[in-house]
Amino acid sequence: MQDISRAIESIRQRLGSRLCIMGHHYENDAIVEHCDVTGDSLELARRIPSIDAEFIVFCGVSFMGESAALLASPSQKVLLPEPAADCQMARMAAAADARRVLEQMRALGLDVLPLAYVNTDVPLKSVVGEFGGSVCTSANARTMMEWAFNAAERVLFIPDMHLGRNTARQLGIPEDEWHILKLGADGIANPSAQPLERKLLLWPGYCPVHAAYTPAHIEAARRTWPGCRVTVHPEASPEVTALCDAAGSTSFLIKDAEARARNGVKETLVVGTEINLVHRLAKRCQDACSIVPLVDGEAAACPDMAMVTPEKLLASLESIEAGTWKAVVLNEADREPAALSLTRMLKICG
Ligand code: SF4
Repeated sequence: MQDISRAIESIRQRLGSRLCIMGHHYENDAIVEHCDVTGDSLELARRIPSIDAEFIVFCGVSFMGESAALLASPSQKVLLPEPAADCQMARMAAAADARRVLEQMRALGLDVLPLAYVNTDVPLKSVVGEFGGSVCTSANARTMMEWAFNAAERVLFIPDMHLGRNTARQLGIPEDEWHILKLGADGIANPSAQPLERKLLLWPGYCPVHAAYTPAHIEAARRTWPGCRVTVHPEASPEVTALCDAAGSTSFLIKDAEARARNGVKETLVVGTEINLVHRLAKRCQDACSIVPLVDGEAAACPDMAMVTPEKLLASLESIEAGTWKAVVLNEADREPAALSLTRMLKICG
């Protein structure tokens, strides 16, 4: 492993400013130590337009590399060390299905605007852009949902039903104004039997990592560490977030832990999110406070993020030097509407 790490660093030095390695917080330390920029989805997307490097090697799952390719300049190449690393939640919302649902709703005379979580592929973002909607992240879902409700009578939130419900709760939208869509092979299953007139329509998708947390996990944490604070990512279900002390985006969870370390709070902090990030936070803050994961081990790891290994990062960098690199290629027809859905969010949220 030392050899691989040294080889990665040698190529980084040789490529200098021609290369920028970006990494999501959910990658493990063996990847993060080589990254020029780390962040959550929003932070990474915001950084792309200010990066001059000719090659951006994106350590994360495919939708992140696609978003980077959308926001990069035409002369930049975005490489994914493992293009097959995908987000399981993104796979739950296919562009063709979203288009069918939006067309069905319009045909029924229902004014609806799509709001898509950034964890979606480019064809889905393209449909959202075409129908006048926008992308959002867990850090700005509330702002973007407010924006969407100012623009249309109802919102179709794709694909994370939990983030959608948690955000609706923050906005004070009552439960009888939400509906989780039942979908079939032809779009909305039996439309006349579903309350499609409701304010917030939710795609029935979820993140298998965060949706696996249960109220029993929170109760067990409070028994194990009396007086602890429990924080969780809003991709967890509302039944779980309601029992926590706070729920927020990846950047919120990091800031919350760092503030606790700065203030020397002794009670344990229990964090419910991807395990690589929790372990990194625990290590970083170990002299000041105790941080433990809500769920430990493989069950709390994103299997797709784990597909990005130092070996694959090295192979990506070697391909740049050898001139055999393969960059993320986007369907040209999707490029403009998908970019529109992303830039709408970046304009609104700064
Ligand atoms: S942790 Fe969940 S939302 Fe994030 S990439 Fe993995 S499956 Fe997708």
